[in-house]
Amino acid sequence: MNEGKLCVSVTGETAGQMLEHIERAERLADIIELRLDGMDPAQIAIVRDEISKRKVLVPIIATFRSPEQGGAGSASIDERRAIWRGSSDGYWAADVEEDVFTDAERWPRRILSFHDYTDENPDIVPIAERFVASPADVIKFATATNDITDALPVWKVLEIARSNGKPCVPVGMGDAGKWTRILGPAHGAYMTYAPLEQGLETAPGQISVSDLITTFRVKEIDRNTRVYGIVGDPVSQSFSPYFQNAAFVSTGVNAVFLPLLVKDLGGFMRRMVRIETREVDLNFGGFSVTMPHKQAIMDHLDHLDEAASEIGAVNTVNILNDGKLIGYNTDAHGFITPLKAKFSDVKDARVAVFGAGGAARACVYALKKEGAGVTVFVRDPAKAAAFSDDLAVEVKLIPDGRTGLLVGTDILVDATPIGMKGDLENTTLFLADQLTGVKFVYDLVTKASDTPLMLEAKKAGISVLGGLEMLIAQGMKQFEIWTGCEAPEEVTRAAVLARMHQQM
Ligand code: NAP
Repeated sequence: MNEGKLCVSVTGETAGQMLEHIERAERLADIIELRLDGMDPAQIAIVRDEISKRKVLVPIIATFRSPEQGGAGSASIDERRAIWRGSSDGYWAADVEEDVFTDAERWPRRILSFHDYTDENPDIVPIAERFVASPADVIKFATATNDITDALPVWKVLEIARSNGKPCVPVGMGDAGKWTRILGPAHGAYMTYAPLEQGLETAPGQISVSDLITTFRVKEIDRNTRVYGIVGDPVSQSFSPYFQNAAFVSTGVNAVFLPLLVKDLGGFMRRMVRIETREVDLNFGGFSVTMPHKQAIMDHLDHLDEAASEIGAVNTVNILNDGKLIGYNTDAHGFITPLKAKFSDVKDARVAVFGAGGAARACVYALKKEGAGVTVFVRDPAKAAAFSDDLAVEVKLIPDGRTGLLVGTDILVDATPIGMKGDLENTTLFLADQLTGVKFVYDLVTKASDTPLMLEAKKAGISVLGGLEMLIAQGMKQFEIWTGCEAPEEVTRAAVLARMHQQM
């Protein structure tokens, strides 16, 4: 548990909308922020009259921000001054920028806030020192982020404020700053902001209040909570935060799993992870690693397990108590476990693997370990030679005409993104009549429904397996590496499926 508060930030174009949002927010929030900057003065007056008449269950903050600081309207300095010099009836606090701070001195409390939406990374330490010395009750710093380390300055402000006993809210805006919104309260932030629901965000990178409470347990975690996360770019579509957090809860492990949007991997490892050089201590326990860092991460680790080193890619990092970083590859295990459960004779099978990326490498490693005969098909001649040398496997180029290509193949593995959501969603490597003779089709793409290749295989009467079981098996293995506990399979599966259906 921590003492941070959950502030639900609500908007509305009319007083009626705003009051309806307040009613919904008061059931979830410790504090409600009203973003008044999108409303005209007459509607603002109605809201104030209503909230001073009826007893809202939680304290209410009024915010009326300038357009430069992210306000929704085009209010001039005089209009903003008029708001803060006016009545504070019904309100618990005013959230004001420095230029109107003194105008709000008759309000019961003042939150002095600084917002920077540029990507210029201004030096905010002098501003923070000024804010800490001010009579503000709480200070708030929100700056735009493109990469995870861009949020470090606001985190340092939190440290400065904490050591001076000044309540502070640090916010890294954007996907790369989500970690500040989740971990803030655990590290002494006064509160964290959330929209009422997805689609009603009042700032970039906000996480819905239900995800903050249920998935990330933002009020329950504390400084001792071990922090894990998925390191990649992008990470917003990842299922991992949903199933890993569900697994931590169900096994009672004090840990949380975050999306970690990392562009400059070296900067992240140096400034946030490596004990010798890190600028903050977030109590990281390890990472799941995804595109585009699965190979580059290897240069930053102290040791690789056998699978990671032979595959030449790491999808899991475990951080030991002495700070040593160990790399693993659980994709191979995740790939082969469901295949063996569905296809009894992998050992004697002839397998065609399509693709030459990280997933294909893990598949080939696992299949060869089982004793299968493997041929890899790639589209890029330059990658063919390297793949063949690294994994000691036969590699061929994908020909234009595919009829007859699979004669003599028992298992077809598609380790390309064909069929994935996006541009390739409705495409397939093979049509039903090109699959004659194939006994089993394994498409690694993870979707709630069958991919086009799986549908073609079914038309040809062939058994299929999609990427869901691999996702679950590789994630469960990661959980076991990090915690030493057996992963709860049904909880993990249910969490992935629930998230998949939410996204459909
Ligand atoms: P990756 O490293 O980007 O590799 C993708 C490979 O597919 C590359 O060799 C690429 O060729 C090839 N490719 C792309 N488009 C193609 C096309 N139109 N025709 C032929 N080949 C094509 O990606 P990855 O990490 O290996 O992932 C591959 C797939 O596996 C993705 O769909 C991913 O979601 C899935 N996956 C699933 C799981 C799971 O748990 N279910 C785990 C990992 C990956 P070039 O090299 O020529 O670009």
